[in-house]
Amino acid sequence: GRSVYRVYNDDMGRANIDKFNLMTQIRQALKDKQFRLFYQPKMDIRSGRVCGVEALIRWPQPDGSYIAPDDFIPLAESSGVIADIGHWVLQEACEACMRWRQQGHGSVGVAVNLSYVQFRDGSLERSVQQVLRQSGLPSSALELELTESMLIGEGDDISRQLSAIHQMGVSFSIDDFGTGYSNLGYLRRFNASRLKIDKSFITDLGVSQRDEPLVRAIIQMAASLGLHSVAEGVEDEATLNLLRQLGCDEAQGYFWSRALPEHEFIAWLKQHNAISELPHSSEL
Ligand code: C2E
Ligand code: MG
Ligand code: MG
Ligand code: MG
Repeated sequence: GRSVYRVYNDDMGRANIDKFNLMTQIRQALKDKQFRLFYQPKMDIRSGRVCGVEALIRWPQPDGSYIAPDDFIPLAESSGVIADIGHWVLQEACEACMRWRQQGHGSVGVAVNLSYVQFRDGSLERSVQQVLRQSGLPSSALELELTESMLIGEGDDISRQLSAIHQMGVSFSIDDFGTGYSNLGYLRRFNASRLKIDKSFITDLGVSQRDEPLVRAIIQMAASLGLHSVAEGVEDEATLNLLRQLGCDEAQGYFWSRALPEHEFIAWLKQHNAISELPHSSEL
């Protein structure tokens, strides 16, 4: 203006425009049903069998690439559209899991990641109830993944919602454990079944000793609290063997499979189940 000086940082302007464009595209993508769920198996370390599946969102692009959730979920959260995306994810995951059961691919359950926004807006309980009813999936087959930060300082209303959902028969896991806060008080108040050790602690386990004491302690703590421990990001056999020695219950990672589109996941599952039906190689 006439007497006002304004410092305009061009980069900042561009960043805001990019964000605005991306936000508009996210809304449009939801309307156009562009999002897809991919599925990654979760393995029982002792039996070597698939014990669950995690649903992970993907945003396919016209050039065949995908935008990763870490690159659009935070923006979807800040604009509030995550509530609708989150409901879609729940619905899609429950329907898919129900389809697998009906097609005879076994009775593994599905785990869905939640955003703190779905939590705070008070719609979660209704949303969960609705998708279970519509899909016909038994509540025991649904697991919700929450991060520590969602559970720190949670208010009464959130506690009430969580215990209502727990009473429906849905289970909870704590995702990315170890990266949040060191206040562990929430573990006492909150009914979780699984502790998922963040992959940053698992990645170098096979090659370096550094993280072993920490991972060992987390597994022991989980066990003494009556929680199953799950290792995220297992990429090689050395890591798996060490986790087995440490008494970890379950694992997930590229060693078995990346997250796959539904038809590829089913093919993987069939092949894996066929192999694990065979007598153990040492018995042959
Ligand atoms: P997360 O829930 O902790 O998911 C684990 C991430 O690790 C996934 O990344 C998965 O593809 C990746 N991963 C699995 N195994 C390995 C491995 O062996 N090595 C390595 N390096 N990575 C592995 P992804 O799919 O990119 O998801 C990132 C995060 O985005 C998730 O972390 C979750 O917090 C969030 N997210 C994903 N889908 C949804 C969703 O539907 N709703 C919400 N609210 N958040 C989601
Ligand atoms: Mg997760
Ligand atoms: Mg995680
Ligand atoms: Mg994560």
